[in-house]
Amino acid sequence: MSNVSKLLAELVQIESINPNLSSKGSGEAAIAAYVGKFCGDQGIEFKFQPVSEGRDNVLAWVRGTDPDKRIVFDAHLDTVPADGWERDPFAAERDARRMYGRGTCDTKSSLAAMLYALVAIRKDKPRATVFVAGTVDEEYRKAGARALAQSGIGFEAAVAGEPTNLEVVVAHKGSVRWWIETIGRAAHSSKPELGLNAIAGMAHVIPELVRLGDKLRTSYEHSLVGAPSLTISLIQGGSDICTVPARCEIFLDRRLVPQETPAAAIEEVEKVLAALRKKHQDLQVRSVFPAVEDPPLEDATRSRIAEVAAEACRNVAGTGGTFHGAPWGTDASQLQLTGAKCIVLGPGDGAQGHTIDEYVDLDQVDKATEIYRRIMKSY
Ligand SMILES: [Zn+2]
Repeated sequence: MSNVSKLLAELVQIESINPNLSSKGSGEAAIAAYVGKFCGDQGIEFKFQPVSEGRDNVLAWVRGTDPDKRIVFDAHLDTVPADGWERDPFAAERDARRMYGRGTCDTKSSLAAMLYALVAIRKDKPRATVFVAGTVDEEYRKAGARALAQSGIGFEAAVAGEPTNLEVVVAHKGSVRWWIETIGRAAHSSKPELGLNAIAGMAHVIPELVRLGDKLRTSYEHSLVGAPSLTISLIQGGSDICTVPARCEIFLDRRLVPQETPAAAIEEVEKVLAALRKKHQDLQVRSVFPAVEDPPLEDATRSRIAEVAAEACRNVAGTGGTFHGAPWGTDASQLQLTGAKCIVLGPGDGAQGHTIDEYVDLDQVDKATEIYRRIMKSY
C-alpha cells in the first residue's frame, strides 16, 4: 500500500462527521490535530486557524521562491453522517484497489493526496508558496472556507479537492436558502371570520413561486452547469387542528448558475412577494433573513490554474481534455470571493459522495498526488 493510501486509511479511521448535521458527529478537532501531527513529523510548517469553538482549520505550507505568489489547496475535514451502512464506515476496509469508508471519496482522499504532494514539493523549490488547508464545516455552511478566505493570506489561485474523477471542474452552481413566512391571526376555528388564516395566505404565495421556478428552469441553460432552479423544500404551519393558523413558513432552495448572485435571486423573489401583497390586501408575507448564501463558482476556463491543472491531468491520468461544470457546491465558492481563480479537482467519483458504502479507487488517489505535485511545481 502506498504512503498516501496509508494516510488516507488513518484519516478515514478518525470519525469527523459535521456536528451540525448529526448530534453524533465529533467534528474536526481530532482530524485537524492528526493532520498537524503529520505535518510536524514530516518537518512541514503548519498552524491552526480557529473558526469556532473546538473547530479549527489546519494550514500547512511550503515556501516558494517568489514571496508574492501564493496558491491554496483546500480539502474539507468534515464529512456527512454515516447511517445505514453495510460496512463499518470508519474501518477503511480494502477490496483490491478500492477503499471503503465515510469520507474516502468526499474528501479525505483529496486531503491525503494534497498532503503527500506538499511533502514531495519541498525538494522541487516551487515558485509559489503552496498552502494545503484542511477546512471545517464544508458540508454545512462552509465556515472554514469563509475564514480561510478572510485570513489575509492573499492567494491568487486555489484548488478545491473534491471527487471529480481527476477531471478539471471550472464552474459550479451556488445556492441561496431562506425562509418565507405568512402571518395571520389565530382564532377558534368555529369562528374563522375572527382570524386570518396564514396557511390560506401561503396558498397564494406557493403557485407564484412554483411558476418562477418553472421559468428559471426552462428559460436559461448555462453551458457548463445547466439551468438555475428554485425549490420549495419545506413547509410548516398551524398550531393545532381547531385553530385558525397564525403562521405558515416555507423554505426556499434557490440554485444559482455562474453570473447570478444571491442578492439578485433574493430580489427576484421579493418582487413576486410585493406583487402578491398588492393583489391580496390582507396578505402579510415576508422573507426571513439572513439567508445562507453560497455564490456559484465563476467560470475559470481561461485561468492559469485551469491550464496548469489540465496539463497535469492529461500527462498523469489522461483526463483534463475538456473543462467541466458541476451542479454541486464546494469551498471554492467562498475562496473565489478573494479574487482568486479557483478550480475543483480530486480523486474519486462524485456519485460516491454522501452514499452508503462510499469508496474511492486507490489508483486515482496515487495519480491525484502526482497531479497536485505537478500543479504545485509548475504554477
Ligand atoms: Zn466534499
